[in-house]
Amino acid sequence: MRIDSHTHLLPEKMPDWTEKFGYGEFIHLEHHRPGFANMMKGKQFFREIGRNCWDPELRIQEYAAFHTEVQVVSTIPVMFSYWAKPLDTLDLSAFLNDHLAEIVHRYPKNYVALGTIPMQDTDLAIRELERCQELGIKGIQIGSNINGENLSESRYFPVFEACEQMGMAILVHPWNMMGESEMKKYWLPWLVGMPAETSRAMCSMIFGGVLERLPRLRVNFAHAGGSFFATLGRIRHGFESRPDLVAVDNAVDPKHYLGKFWVDCITHDPATLEYVLKFQGSKRVTLGSDYPFPLGDLEIGAFIDQMDLTDGEKENIYCHSTLEWLGIDRI
Ligand SMILES: [Zn+2]
Repeated sequence: MRIDSHTHLLPEKMPDWTEKFGYGEFIHLEHHRPGFANMMKGKQFFREIGRNCWDPELRIQEYAAFHTEVQVVSTIPVMFSYWAKPLDTLDLSAFLNDHLAEIVHRYPKNYVALGTIPMQDTDLAIRELERCQELGIKGIQIGSNINGENLSESRYFPVFEACEQMGMAILVHPWNMMGESEMKKYWLPWLVGMPAETSRAMCSMIFGGVLERLPRLRVNFAHAGGSFFATLGRIRHGFESRPDLVAVDNAVDPKHYLGKFWVDCITHDPATLEYVLKFQGSKRVTLGSDYPFPLGDLEIGAFIDQMDLTDGEKENIYCHSTLEWLGIDRI
């Protein structure tokens, strides 16, 4: 069995929250031609999406071509809406989570869900986290920063603590990319900003002591950890050479956490994945695709079939590591 740990799904129809709340630029959908919809950010065009963004049966068919039976679905990060009034983000999150839960209920052999919660308000975030669990949702997806604040900020700690206590998994996904307004050209927010964001989140959770204080917290970092592993030597050297700057909240070497968190395999490159596997081991690398977006690995791990890995290592990546991250024995 193969499980894709990193995929995105939206409801076909969503409220126009900008109209409903009377402010801001929430995402809504305009179904402008058959099988396609424009995601609109307020009045501005954001991205065109196709039917495989919302049609669960079409997705199952498309996945069958890559021998992948199970999709771990989460919303598209632009839906996080952490910038909005907390109760409004709660309303929006609840709508998306109810939809995800319904998909899982209808297709329990094909879908596992990760919810979204209003991270800008700790109490509301935990309230929705609890409701997600009641709905059968196995974890949450959160952004790499919350309105520009790092995940090491103390106000986010109770959310992580609740996730650990409740056994809810976390996917950290890059969003609200640093430097976005300065480097719009060449898609750099996606090509440069996103990998940096993931490393930012990993360094924040390591240096802030989140992973140290919550050893049973199960966190998966998107896109194979972004630029984290490529700069790990520098990160560790910084920790050793300037502890006065780096080791102020956690005195443990970052190396200690390798193989304790998870990362997905979305590298598009066997050599890069081999490098990540050296640090993480196959039990901590999950099959991921970022389906159905063009920057994703839309052949869903096909490049791994060509790699010189043992069958056991491949099975770990394709299935076991994701089950362990989600805290479940089987689908
Ligand atoms: Zn993604």
